[in-house]
Amino acid sequence: MVELKGLPGAPGVAAGRVLLLQPGRMQLPKEISGTLSAEVEKLKKAREVYRDRLKKLHSFAKEQQEEENAAILSSYLEIADDAPFFEEVESLIRREKVSAAWALDQKCRYTVELFDKLPEEYMRQRAEDVDNVCRELICEMQGVKRLEHKVGDAGEDHIIFAEDLTPAETIRLDKKKLRGLVTQKGGPTSHTSILAKNLGIPAVVGLGEGFLKAKGKEPALIDGDTGTVILSPNSEQTRRFSEKILYNKERREQYLSAEKRPACTLDGRPISVCVNTGSEEDLRDFKPERCDGIGLYRTELLYLGRDAFPSDEEQYEAYKKVTEQAGGKPVTIRTLDVGGDKTAGYMHLPEEQNPFLGYRAIRISLDKKEVFLTQLRSILRASVHGKVQLMFPMIVTLEELLQAKELLSQAKEQLRERGEKYNEEMPVGIMVETPAAVLLCDRLSPHVDFFSIGTNDLIQYTTATDRMNERIQYLFDPFNISVLRSVSLVCEAAQRHGVPVSICGESASEPWLIPLWVGLGVSGLSVSPGLVGRTKTIISRLDTSEMQREAQHIVTSFGELDRVKKQLRQLCESLGF
Ligand code: PEP
Ligand code: MG
Repeated sequence: MVELKGLPGAPGVAAGRVLLLQPGRMQLPKEISGTLSAEVEKLKKAREVYRDRLKKLHSFAKEQQEEENAAILSSYLEIADDAPFFEEVESLIRREKVSAAWALDQKCRYTVELFDKLPEEYMRQRAEDVDNVCRELICEMQGVKRLEHKVGDAGEDHIIFAEDLTPAETIRLDKKKLRGLVTQKGGPTSHTSILAKNLGIPAVVGLGEGFLKAKGKEPALIDGDTGTVILSPNSEQTRRFSEKILYNKERREQYLSAEKRPACTLDGRPISVCVNTGSEEDLRDFKPERCDGIGLYRTELLYLGRDAFPSDEEQYEAYKKVTEQAGGKPVTIRTLDVGGDKTAGYMHLPEEQNPFLGYRAIRISLDKKEVFLTQLRSILRASVHGKVQLMFPMIVTLEELLQAKELLSQAKEQLRERGEKYNEEMPVGIMVETPAAVLLCDRLSPHVDFFSIGTNDLIQYTTATDRMNERIQYLFDPFNISVLRSVSLVCEAAQRHGVPVSICGESASEPWLIPLWVGLGVSGLSVSPGLVGRTKTIISRLDTSEMQREAQHIVTSFGELDRVKKQLRQLCESLGF
């Protein structure tokens, strides 16, 4: 038995066998085991199998309208089809008399190094793709299962252990038998955590070195609430986990029934519970009757994994579709939030020392005005199909907000000239996700219809902690008292100006924090689709005045994180969750 500690990625517990997606590079034999022709043949065969698989996955992604994934798969296919690249590998096998896997690995390293040195971000991204394709081909030749095939059969209940999961890998997971996810890298707001929450399965992330202890097919238990992983558990641990799994199953049924009712506190105060979305996959499972709308529609997914900015028409169709899917409920469309970790070659974003502090989000939109105007026009046109709200990300100054609104007026003017319809009254709000916006809330209030607090970035910027860096994740803590005080400041300023405040970062659905959000006066929470029921259930057990007293006590009395957590844990236990 081995017990490992990572970070909570997505709630719940799970049992299953380890399905190891090969971390890092394998030790590859240089010597050949048969003839040189057999090695060359091995490479050809692996390419054939791999290309077939990619084609199948590509059509599957197209069928499911997963455009982003389809684009990634086409670029993988292009690499797998690159004849000169593989001819060079073949001549390396024959010239050096080495194994096919070893030769491919050498060629891959050489190419990746070459691409990595190039100034264009696009080429460096391409290096990652070449590396992925080669690693998958090597796994194919070595008979190592790197990824389960979505179209195929993943066999028994399993927990995926991966270094990290890319969107291209995500598509191939056989979700029917997938019980949980564990990653070596990443933190609670990484792609894997968000994916697991959307799927409603537990995840432990940022396991670090401990990850290497896991062996393929070994029985494992994971607890996504505490970030615990147990490998080869003893019978007592298995029994305890089985009980917890059963308990969670019952609770899930309770949450499912809570989803059907609007969220309301014990004293009758309604709190809207919306969902965060962006990918086609999330939208396929979106059920407007189970939530109060879309609180955050991340438009950047429309812009990533492609070769050029999406056109006016393409964007309009996407925004119209999501608006219609919301069935008359509000849809908060956030303007482009790229930069940081989200980039595409065609955007020609500069290489930066500190990308999260650099050229990103509204800064890019205000700089590339035509790109911004195109997006604003598309959103405005979609606004006639339902209740669209517009939201600007990463605001740090009043000037930025005023400039963005000025461009919105220009976009309206352009539509009027073209005789196109739009909703003149479309509400406009901002993400409060920087300490600057928190401190400026009272000045920003007169110019917005709503605030939405992005705790993912707010924690990152308040605590000066990179949200993707697992070495310092202990500082990326949603309970950090400075962050809680920031939310309190925003709520106070907004209330004075009659501006509603919601929260759309991952902390919105953190069970121990929901009582605090209610006490501080937020009017809405926007959460991963899989957490709507749990969030509504917790809200229904809270009394507003009692939570107000608790919230005031917490934000004014404590300095230590442990005391904040203890107080909130005791409060939640007394409320029965
Ligand atoms: C946030 O920062 O909390 C947020 C919701 O935005 P994103 O995670 O897309 O940066
Ligand atoms: Mg953000």
